Amino acid sequence: MQLPANLNVYISAILFILGAYLFALYAGLIIWTFRDIHARTRDILAQIMAVLLVTIFNVPGLLIYILIRPRTTLAENYERDLAEESVLHELEQLQACPNCQLRIEPDYIVCPSCRKPLKVRCESCERLMHLDWSICPYCGHTPEQVHDELEPEHDHDQFNRRKPRSEPEHLQTLDLDPL
Ligand SMILES: [Zn+2]
Ligand SMILES: [Zn+2]
Repeated sequence: MQLPANLNVYISAILFILGAYLFALYAGLIIWTFRDIHARTRDILAQIMAVLLVTIFNVPGLLIYILIRPRTTLAENYERDLAEESVLHELEQLQACPNCQLRIEPDYIVCPSCRKPLKVRCESCERLMHLDWSICPYCGHTPEQVHDELEPEHDHDQFNRRKPRSEPEHLQTLDLDPL
């Protein structure tokens, strides 16, 4: 049995390769942690702590990091927010007639089933207004005959409804109060 003459060289080479491999693994863990925490939080302190944890404790540190890191990434949060927003938007779009509960579109001005007036068109800018709006929010036009058009059959109510409900009370108190 004869030992190779340059055994030390072989051992050195093997140790060097092993060392380089371990260092690459170590650096890889740190880089992976940095990217992972970067994708999960914008908190600088949390990012530094995560990287330090893995830098100091290596594989056990990485295991601890995986246990305590934020569960979702920022991209997942953003997607979830978008999905929630679109669901809310869809719910807003789904409207029902307050009288017969028939599903109506946002631009209907009258219910096609029970004929209940739903909206009114502004005389000035022609955009749709809710019935309880006393002024057009788009052009500032004040409708004069909104209620006349809506309920032409109730002639006795017409005069009272034309004015905002609070106005007569307001005027009354002004008249009665001896200021
Ligand atoms: Zn209806
Ligand atoms: Zn208008």
